[in-house]
Amino acid sequence: METVDRDRVLIGGTWEPAARGRYPVVNPATEEVVGFAPEASVEQALAAARAARRAFEEGSWRKTSGRERAAMLREIARRFRARMPELVELAIAETGAVRRIAEPQQVGAVAVRLERYADLAEESYEESFPPRPVPHPQGAPVFSAGLARREPVGVVACITPFNFPMTNCAGKIGPALACGNTVVVKPSPVDPLGVAELCAIAAEVLPPGVVNFVCGSGPEIGEALTTSPDVDMISFTGSSAVGARIYEAAGRGVKRLLLELGGKSPNVVFADADLDRALANAATVWTFHAGQACILGTRLLVEESVYESFTRRLVEFAERIRIGDPRDPEVVMGPLVSRAQLERVENYVARGLSEGARLACGGRRPEGFPRGFFYEPTLFVEATNDMTIAREEIFGPVLVAMPFRDEEEAVALANDSEYGLYGYVWTRDFGRALRVAEALRAGTVQVNGSPLQADAPFGGYKKSGVGRDGGKYAMEAYTELKYIGWTM
Ligand code: NAD
Repeated sequence: METVDRDRVLIGGTWEPAARGRYPVVNPATEEVVGFAPEASVEQALAAARAARRAFEEGSWRKTSGRERAAMLREIARRFRARMPELVELAIAETGAVRRIAEPQQVGAVAVRLERYADLAEESYEESFPPRPVPHPQGAPVFSAGLARREPVGVVACITPFNFPMTNCAGKIGPALACGNTVVVKPSPVDPLGVAELCAIAAEVLPPGVVNFVCGSGPEIGEALTTSPDVDMISFTGSSAVGARIYEAAGRGVKRLLLELGGKSPNVVFADADLDRALANAATVWTFHAGQACILGTRLLVEESVYESFTRRLVEFAERIRIGDPRDPEVVMGPLVSRAQLERVENYVARGLSEGARLACGGRRPEGFPRGFFYEPTLFVEATNDMTIAREEIFGPVLVAMPFRDEEEAVALANDSEYGLYGYVWTRDFGRALRVAEALRAGTVQVNGSPLQADAPFGGYKKSGVGRDGGKYAMEAYTELKYIGWTM
């Protein structure tokens, strides 16, 4: 693949050179340079927000109907689809995702999301209040009628993480644009090239200034957007630590917030479950983008009667996982996204060992990979829920297994966490499945691996986030609700 030079920022419809030059984006499998990303200045980030403000206040965008916006979103999806083969290669090169993840999840999901929000843009979100007598402070009751309608929030800063860069961006600009907002996109510095391509495609279709793109290797660009007076809403996906900083900074400007943050999700396996399926699901902490996904069940809670056999079978599973070149369609596990992420995982594993947990497998870089940020599928046993490896999000291929005695203890362990993004329950006893699902303090609970429906609400309890994304819940998140009342 040739290097991809995307060293410009998009402000008000013009791609201009980044004020501070460019920086290299590294292929995590080879450590070679994939391409160059723009090193924007804070002034450029603020200018992008101003351009988005102008496009929102003054341009033609504001007058578009939901149907017109839907047509534009579909056109962006069509143009994106036409470039999929090339974008899959780019996604593999900059994120390290293996082909079987990159094709459907890193790239395929983008057009699907845009089209889904195009459909939602065509729906009505108005609710009418029929005339009824309402007491009037200055006299007799009057008849009053009304209309509750949804209006765009204004300028939305879309700040995204490294793990699924294009898909995550589509999940933000899709609903934001469908609702009539303008956006400033700020991707993760680690793998921003695909997001730049997506924004370039969107800008070909949309009026100038409706989509803006800024990027830089440090946190200043995102920080500037969270305090810019031209930004009305911050849609952020990333770690809970950065989310908390954004909460504080945005709070001073009373900005709208949608925060999709970290997770340390419990995966509760009862002895009566379909253990083969539960096992394959538990192993997604290794096989799904090398554990770099927020929703994975990284705390594995297994009923004690099957704990030994289940963890032993997991080790056998781990030994069969093929690690290697993410371009190879047979490879199941690629590298971690960056050296920093690899070192983070190594530090957590060292911490786990120092606190007394035991490695059943993994815990090191695999042999035969002198280059690249590869790490073995790792399983900790003899761990307890108070250990750092059970409390903090590692975001890598590290599974922490703990036994439980009964349902009550399973729920108590599952809920003993600062996070509340996801939960998994495996049992054939439907009554118990429902009891546990209701008891878990998490935004989503999946029973027996039921896949998430496209329009389901998505978001976290506790430190896993604020607000809900997905389908009509996203349409609510990216709009203000206005009531217009009148009397006869
Ligand atoms: P991160 O929090 O380090 O960075 C996310 C984004 O925030 C990046 O674009 C970064 O440049 C920017 N940023 C950093 N400091 C900032 C600041 N002070 N102000 C504004 N922006 C700032 O996250 P990451 O390492 O890229 O991604 C991994 C994290 O994302 C994990 O915690 C994971 O759980 C989370 N995540 C959550 C979801 C979800 O839907 N809940 C989905 C994917 C990833």
